[in-house]
Amino acid sequence: MYRNVQRGSNTGNDYFTEPTTPPVSSRPPSQRRNGEDSPGEFSPGLLDLHSFDTELLPEMQIPNLYDAPLYNHVRGRSLDDSEPYISNNKQTGKARGVPENSLLKSFAADREKVNSVAKIKVVVRKRPLNKKELAKNEEDIIETLSNSLVVHETKLKVDLTEYVEKHEFVFDAVLNEEVSNDEVYRETVEPIVPIIFQRTKATCFAYGQTGSGKTFTMKPLPLKASRDILRLMHHTYRNQGFQLFVSFFEIYGGKLFDLLSDRKKLFMREDGKQQVCIVGLQEYRASDVETIKDLIEKGNATRSTGTTGANEESSRSHAILQLAIKRSVDGNESKPPRVVGKLSFIDLAGSERGADTTDNDKQTR
Ligand code: ADP
Ligand code: MG
Repeated sequence: MYRNVQRGSNTGNDYFTEPTTPPVSSRPPSQRRNGEDSPGEFSPGLLDLHSFDTELLPEMQIPNLYDAPLYNHVRGRSLDDSEPYISNNKQTGKARGVPENSLLKSFAADREKVNSVAKIKVVVRKRPLNKKELAKNEEDIIETLSNSLVVHETKLKVDLTEYVEKHEFVFDAVLNEEVSNDEVYRETVEPIVPIIFQRTKATCFAYGQTGSGKTFTMKPLPLKASRDILRLMHHTYRNQGFQLFVSFFEIYGGKLFDLLSDRKKLFMREDGKQQVCIVGLQEYRASDVETIKDLIEKGNATRSTGTTGANEESSRSHAILQLAIKRSVDGNESKPPRVVGKLSFIDLAGSERGADTTDNDKQTR
């Protein structure tokens, strides 16, 4: 399941200014609370991943995408905007005396790439019956179809004869118990990898009870995505100054821990621009798959050994692995690179934990 958002960019001389943030009153109360009531704390559980650190790098200036030099003044549009995209650009283009056709074409191409991917996709994966269920001879009550599943619920009539009630649920895709992790990747994450280079942030998370297969399903995805990202960086976007950064942290009992820095405690804070920042989070630059593999393994190991009773504890924590693509403004390596796009993977705590004592206020849930 994932969600992606593309941020609008800035115009003209506002090149380095922030995207506008909604007024405080329109923001969720949990976020407001951060800055206003308890500046040193955060509310556990509710994260706006898309606001981390991170205004996106303004329009990319990829020489071979544009026929004329430096068109960073053109206004990008948020995907949330339903108004026609082209007409707006046309005006901006004209106003600045930019040859509009090539410009429009390249933006339209970029936008098409982003648009061709659904904003939200919900995929269900059925796991096989486990040993315990098999040992108890339990019945498989889920029937999968291509994009729907049927739950066979056994009920009793008044005269105590059994009958089966069928409930059908429709999703974007349904994967049965025979599907491999590779196929899960192809169905879910693979299509969003290219748009991370198009100023887009996407999140993939697994939701379900403890034991339903969240970790089993999520674990292989970041490495597969990294492989594809690096492939794009080294081929399609070769020599264009893109860099890949990895970070990995955990939220447990309302506290944040850096899984790549020996569980160093982190703080989530909101800055003056109401952007949520994870203070102290280590990001590692990676340019090959091996490095990323090591980092992910290190993080996973830290996650499961850092707490007592690993299984029980990890089912109560959220693990967030982020792959950020950055690029130096103007291709100038001496300037700190800015975020172009980001892919976040969240292995959530079990859905039954909604009633946990550390997490139990209604707002947080
Ligand atoms: P969760 O993270 O949701 O608590 P896990 O991913 O730890 O659940 O899965 C629980 C157990 O079920 C693990 O032993 C895992 O290997 C197994 N499992 C889950 N999904 C599958 C699957 N699709 N195929 C085979 N085994 C699975
Ligand atoms: Mg798990």
